[in-house]
Amino acid sequence: MKNNKRPNQRRIVSFGQIAGWILVFVLAVVLFNRPGHKTTELDYSEFKQKVAAAEVSDLTIAPETIVGMYKNTEGKFLPFKTVRMDDPELVKELSAAKVKFRAEKDNSWIGNILFNVLWIVLLVGLWWFIFLRPQRSDGKSAMNFARSKAKMQDPSQQTVTFKDVAGCEEAKEELQDIIKFLKNPKKFQKLGGKLPKGVLLYGAPGTGKTLLAKAVAGEAGVAFFSASASEFVEMFVGVGAARVRDLFDQAKKNAPAIIFIDELDAVGRRRFAGIGGGHDEREQTLNQLLIELDGFESKQGIILMASTNRPDVLDPALIRPGRFDRHVSVPAPDLKGREDILKVHAKKVKLAEGVNLATVAKSTPGFVGADLANVVNEAAILAARADKEAVENADMEEAIERVIAGPQKKSRIISPKELQIIAAHEVGHTVVARMTRHSDPVHKVSIIPRGQALGYTLQLPEEDKFLTSKSEFKDKLCILLGGRAAEEIVFGEITSGASDDLNKTMAYARKMIMELGMSEKLGPISLPSNEEGEVFLGRDLSRHTTYSQELAKVIDEEIMELIRSSYTRAKEIITNNRVAFDKLVSVLLEKEVVEADEIDVILGLKEPAAPQTDKVPADPKIAQEKKEEPSAQTPEVKQGDLFGDANPS
Ligand code: ADP
Ligand code: ZN
Repeated sequence: MKNNKRPNQRRIVSFGQIAGWILVFVLAVVLFNRPGHKTTELDYSEFKQKVAAAEVSDLTIAPETIVGMYKNTEGKFLPFKTVRMDDPELVKELSAAKVKFRAEKDNSWIGNILFNVLWIVLLVGLWWFIFLRPQRSDGKSAMNFARSKAKMQDPSQQTVTFKDVAGCEEAKEELQDIIKFLKNPKKFQKLGGKLPKGVLLYGAPGTGKTLLAKAVAGEAGVAFFSASASEFVEMFVGVGAARVRDLFDQAKKNAPAIIFIDELDAVGRRRFAGIGGGHDEREQTLNQLLIELDGFESKQGIILMASTNRPDVLDPALIRPGRFDRHVSVPAPDLKGREDILKVHAKKVKLAEGVNLATVAKSTPGFVGADLANVVNEAAILAARADKEAVENADMEEAIERVIAGPQKKSRIISPKELQIIAAHEVGHTVVARMTRHSDPVHKVSIIPRGQALGYTLQLPEEDKFLTSKSEFKDKLCILLGGRAAEEIVFGEITSGASDDLNKTMAYARKMIMELGMSEKLGPISLPSNEEGEVFLGRDLSRHTTYSQELAKVIDEEIMELIRSSYTRAKEIITNNRVAFDKLVSVLLEKEVVEADEIDVILGLKEPAAPQTDKVPADPKIAQEKKEEPSAQTPEVKQGDLFGDANPS
């Protein structure tokens, strides 16, 4: 897609055209209704007759013309104009006829012509402004709508560096080669490095994605262009696309540079989503973005960065190889990360001696970088208000409360009670995962929010697997239900936090019974689904009923039975390990993240750091039987299982 066809130019012109025609029409009406245009030209002889009959009045006699009112045949007075002749008697005759007249020095018709010329100039000017200019200036709409509102930051003013960003070391690490590339694109190429092009930063709002992008520009010493995707989507069709073009044009002129697009999901949402088609303007903007992405070579020294907190809703075309193919997670900070972020911001204020930032970090679970910056700022304001020399502990505490109470932050910050439920829920997953024989090793358990999840248990397979046995499936169901089971056991009450787990459970159970023939009662049957893959996401409402009512009933029973027995088993596992379970919950609440080794020690399974041995390999016989069914492998299994638990709101 090298050729720079501008599919949206027509649209811009069509917007201009409509506005243009309206203006021209209005002006024309005004112009042609001016009284001057109804002026009748009288011959001098006619004029003289009218003078004699006293049928003229209000004359203005200029050296070259005479204008005034005359009485027409119907007796109405209308404006007229005549060319003046050498007629010394005229004044006498006018006086005799008692006509009101006055003399004028200047040629009034010149004024008249000037007035008309002005109108014409105005019209032509408008015409040019609306119709001609857009085409001349390469598709950019005349009205300046199309100018991107992008802010450019000069490399010389670039003050943000990686020192200013804390608590996301992995993300910084991943961005290192982008910096290397921007510093010296040619050298990077020579070494055969694959040129990066688009980097997608994803994570909750306020985790420092914009800051990171700026810091990359700062570290590399290149220009930084930023624009918010929501600014692209304006009222007028075609404007967004034009702005995208403008943004890229500006950046190309200033290469090497970083283009940063905030809130990419505002334009980058999946196309054709929703009933009745998509949003035309948004789609055009997205298309333009894709065209620009394909149209520039990273050789030019431009890196596109974008941020989103909803990577899941992005159009797949955007994240294809060659576009935003680098994905960097910017998670909410853990305890240590929070302390580091506080240190960064505390540099800007004076702290009293007793202030311990580690303590502040401890009492701010769920806070992201922006919240912590806010805490330090609020504390400084409070201290200043009280005429203190430095920020004291009390100010910090008060500031934390203020930030928690801040209305817009509330949804993100988790109350202590909720934190306990989340911890129990996650430990439920963890304990069941650790105590079932056919499950992948638990990598870590965390109650730090990540994406839409409030907490997560991460399982990673020991090796790549392409087949999943029935026992493994059954354990998986059990692990999924472990969260809900723990909530019920500990609190005697269940929450909405398990909704995603339950969705997955249902999907797995259906797949086992309906597609993989894993039901004893039904035997090795597989019922075809309409949309391959969709079934797994629980969207199979439109499945053809290619089987009988009776069979449907048995299928339902089998699915329910499978889920119920898994839930019972999960509860048993937790109850049987209650002491270790409680211990792990309290350690998790304190540390927020517990890694594999410590989990095993707490559960009394292992000496610290010993490898896992209780893992039984999948039954080779089952593997044999299912050889021709590689789709039993789910995508999640390959990447490790993340029992992320969605925010119930
Ligand atoms: P996002 O783009 O992820 O919504 P921002 O980069 O706009 O978040 O963060 C807003 C502000 O919060 C930053 O300007 C900075 O002051 C502070 N901040 C956020 N994350 C961090 C971090 N990891 N380290 C230091 N400061 C941070
Ligand atoms: Zn869960």
